[in-house]
Amino acid sequence: MGNCLVTELKGVGARLAERLERLGISSIQELLFHLPQRYQDRTQLTAIGSLQPGTQAVIAAEIGLAQIRYGRRRSLLCLVSDGTGKLTLRFFHFGGAQQRAFAAGCRILCFGEVRAGPAGMEMVHPEYQLLDTDEEPALEQSLTPIYPTTEGLGQARLRKLSLAALERLEGGCRLNDYLPAPVREKLDFPPLDVALRSLHRPSPGLPLNALEQSDYPPRLRLVFEELLAHHLSLRLLRRRFTDSLAPALVATGKLIPSFLGRLEFSLTNAQQRVVAELSTDLAAEHPMHRLVQGDVGSGKTVVAALAALQAIEAGFQVAIMAPTELLAEQHFNCFQAWFQPLAIECSWLTGKLKAKARRETLKAISSGTAQLLVGTHAVFQEEVKFSRLGLVVIDEQHRFGVHQRLALRNKGVSEGVRPHQMVMTATPIPRTLAMAAYADLDTSTIDELPPGRQPIETAIVSDRRRDEVVERIARACAAGQQAYWVCPLIDESELLQCRAAAETAETLTGALPEVRVGLVHGRMKKPDRDRTMAAFKAGEIDLLVATTVIEVGVDVPNASLMIVDNAERLGLAQLHQLRGRVGRGERQSVCVLLYRSPLSANARSRLQVLRASNDGFEIAQRDLELRGPGEVLGTRQTGAMQFRIADIMRDQALLPQVEKVAEEMLQQWPDQVPPLVRRWVGGGVHYADV
Ligand code: ADP
Ligand code: MG
Repeated sequence: MGNCLVTELKGVGARLAERLERLGISSIQELLFHLPQRYQDRTQLTAIGSLQPGTQAVIAAEIGLAQIRYGRRRSLLCLVSDGTGKLTLRFFHFGGAQQRAFAAGCRILCFGEVRAGPAGMEMVHPEYQLLDTDEEPALEQSLTPIYPTTEGLGQARLRKLSLAALERLEGGCRLNDYLPAPVREKLDFPPLDVALRSLHRPSPGLPLNALEQSDYPPRLRLVFEELLAHHLSLRLLRRRFTDSLAPALVATGKLIPSFLGRLEFSLTNAQQRVVAELSTDLAAEHPMHRLVQGDVGSGKTVVAALAALQAIEAGFQVAIMAPTELLAEQHFNCFQAWFQPLAIECSWLTGKLKAKARRETLKAISSGTAQLLVGTHAVFQEEVKFSRLGLVVIDEQHRFGVHQRLALRNKGVSEGVRPHQMVMTATPIPRTLAMAAYADLDTSTIDELPPGRQPIETAIVSDRRRDEVVERIARACAAGQQAYWVCPLIDESELLQCRAAAETAETLTGALPEVRVGLVHGRMKKPDRDRTMAAFKAGEIDLLVATTVIEVGVDVPNASLMIVDNAERLGLAQLHQLRGRVGRGERQSVCVLLYRSPLSANARSRLQVLRASNDGFEIAQRDLELRGPGEVLGTRQTGAMQFRIADIMRDQALLPQVEKVAEEMLQQWPDQVPPLVRRWVGGGVHYADV
């Protein structure tokens, strides 16, 4: 049955096929996996006398009086009774023929929602059918499914189609059950065809709300299967990469000891542990794919530097990719300062580079004289040819989204040999998501901050109290501290954002005559921005007004006050990042989240998460609960992580079991894995082909 098309079903022509396509249905199998969201019970009659408002019911009754009522809206009222009570049928849209058909004494069968009307119970626009005098009302044999649908495709049509598909299933068309029987039995799941039948046409008598819950065994089985398929798709991907070859980057001790000797601090235990994990991976002949997560300020850069040194020692090149120009720039400066004393050639590449400089950089990379390349996406453009690329480091991974990350996997592959890959994120991935979206990566966590960091105090303040905040800046700067004032995106346009920052800088300059105010934003020329950043770092500027360009990477330990304007507009992860710009020195730091009143309840609870916690893991978990996985992973637009019936938040309790079954299937039933993945993930998201 795998590839039978819907057009093979009777009555499915091009137009209908096109509408089904919009629901992601082109095969009969997909039709079977298009599951009802809700159900109605049309299997039994309810006596009018026992109707409850707010419920849906089928009644059979005799028509009494039908008449047009001219009220606020003209309507046709039809009074019916069945010996237990009276009910009004109300129609706002009706024709003459309909009116005439409601003749007194005729019998009628209705289905609709009951509500309390001005004169007793009524049904508005019920579905109905007139009955012959002694005709038995035909009731449904099973509960009625309500499907998710699209314009121009009615429920009746979808029901017919699903019935036809079920009949095919019955008629000997096989639908493979890829869950091995022992697994199914252990979990007490029904077989696939039974589950599908129970979901499309549940037996009468089952309580409707129980059917809609994901713990109804047939539904549970499919939810589980979908989560399993997603997880397995990533595991397959991971296996495909770990099976391929990579250069073994064995540390030679030529560079690392002298780097560590010069470093102005010693590594934390967590950093040492992660460095050791990376070092082992790099020395292997199969490509590393490791996610290094660590809260803002936990010191990921130096960890990346040590991995880079191991690759360079072994005679290979390293590419470091950052999501923004500014961050790439900062990394470049940082690595340059660390690596120049070791006589390592560093280069730098972004989209903005002038033609001549660009040509030179490309030459240095292809000839191999450039040992380290730092840049934005430009690092992976077609014409960038490495001579011996050994390691790719991707910083602030969450910005890239799952698809982009997977696409990056194929970069730098030459003659079947892949570079090692390390991705770093300051937004820890909650375990739930990690399992569903990052199961193709190994994970290391820097779970310790460098010594002496003080937790940041966070205040949520209405912008009606802006003046107090400005005074606070005056006091802090008078005491020799430095501060940031961040103006996030209000308008979609970057230009307007920069303008808003410029205006704020002007206002603050006027309000704070004693304070030296600087401004940085994305539209400034690089030398100007560099100059301002350098002045802030050197303490020649007290207050730095900025757009969110400073979100990642800026490092000025003397800054201890952070004001975020319009904080309610930003995501938790982003606010946590911004806040991480302070709290880097010895002094107690403060972050003020300024909001425009009135603040919605949801926005308030989001901001309160930040006040209550300095822990990136906890914040990420709450962010996930409040915003959902698509937003958190940055994949809402691309449609990745979209499940048909599973819901990663609702169903997270299943995940440990999913992981266990995935392991078993890979071990004992490896042949079932690819078709299972294709069934659930295949159509939309080609994880396996990236
Ligand atoms: P992030 O993990 O947010 O990228 P960085 O790598 O930018 O953090 O490090 C934040 C700051 O902490 C930098 O100034 C860095 O030099 C410093 N740092 C990193 N590791 C240590 C350490 N072990 N001891 C003291 N300071 C450290
Ligand atoms: Mg960083």
